[in-house]
Amino acid sequence: MHSAKNSPPAFQWEDWYTSLGGRTIRIAEVDQLLKDIKKHQYQRFKGEVSPIKKEFASKGEASEVVKKHGFEFGADEVGIAEIEPSDIYKGREIKEKYAIVVGQRMLWRKFQEVPSHDSAVECLRVYFSLGEVVIQLAEYIRSLGYACRVEHPIGDSNVLHIPLALKAGFGELGRHGSIIHPKMGPLFRLGSVITDMPLTIDHPIDAGIAAFCDKCKACRNFCPADAIPDERSPEAGKDHLGNDRYMVDTGKCFPYFAKHNYCSICLPVCVYQHKEWAKDFEGFKTKLFPEVNMEDPPPPSDPETAKHWYPKLKREQS
Ligand code: SF4
Ligand code: SF4
Repeated sequence: MHSAKNSPPAFQWEDWYTSLGGRTIRIAEVDQLLKDIKKHQYQRFKGEVSPIKKEFASKGEASEVVKKHGFEFGADEVGIAEIEPSDIYKGREIKEKYAIVVGQRMLWRKFQEVPSHDSAVECLRVYFSLGEVVIQLAEYIRSLGYACRVEHPIGDSNVLHIPLALKAGFGELGRHGSIIHPKMGPLFRLGSVITDMPLTIDHPIDAGIAAFCDKCKACRNFCPADAIPDERSPEAGKDHLGNDRYMVDTGKCFPYFAKHNYCSICLPVCVYQHKEWAKDFEGFKTKLFPEVNMEDPPPPSDPETAKHWYPKLKREQS
């Protein structure tokens, strides 16, 4: 899901969907996972802080220990960023100084056809499983004697995970509005734990990904809601490298994905998904390119603009 400046009300998912014109996704596993997040995870967002504070030799050592435990609990990436006012949802308040940002991969084998039952369930499976990682990490930090709060990937977040993850060195912002990680590509989800525990921060990276997006329009050409822009928008602010941002039109994207199994087309069609490291290695046969289901394909982009070679869209075959 792309970031929006206003946080949806806590756990009022149906109200939020209604504000977008309704949700037509009716998949039992999806509904069960949403219920499980609310029933089994929400009450574990808070907890007792140990009265005995563990002292570390340095902030660097504390950060290493926290990250190591994040990976042990199931994270695929962990980074630390300092929270700024622009990282906080409008109307929410944060006193904590740091966000420990946690990422977890979604499986490429579940995005062989998009949107689909499999891709929708995979999004929710990772929201739940990543929820467990941030909850366990928060419990661990409290056991060290430091207060902290869970910022759940879909539950009730006060912070914007995407700008925090960019500062924490997760990758670069793609044209599709999601972060592209140099190893995971764009198929992952984010959550955080926020705390005042003294920690060292990570730094943004420049791996040439944002520059590549200027020449590639694969996600733009495959977005059925026509929500991904042709150009960067100076009015959308700067990304962490000082580039004008690409502004995804959430007013077009959100209503589309609420009716089409969380859409997600822009993630598996992204060129950065097409690397050896991004495939499943556990013996599953996967395709190089997903099957893309679109009811209403967007208008083609300017044929004169340079863009990455891509398989033909279905609309061009008919
Ligand atoms: S409508 Fe689908 S392809 Fe377009 S931005 Fe939203 S999730 Fe991505
Ligand atoms: S598909 Fe291409 S333009 Fe879109 S985010 Fe990925 S690399 Fe960037």
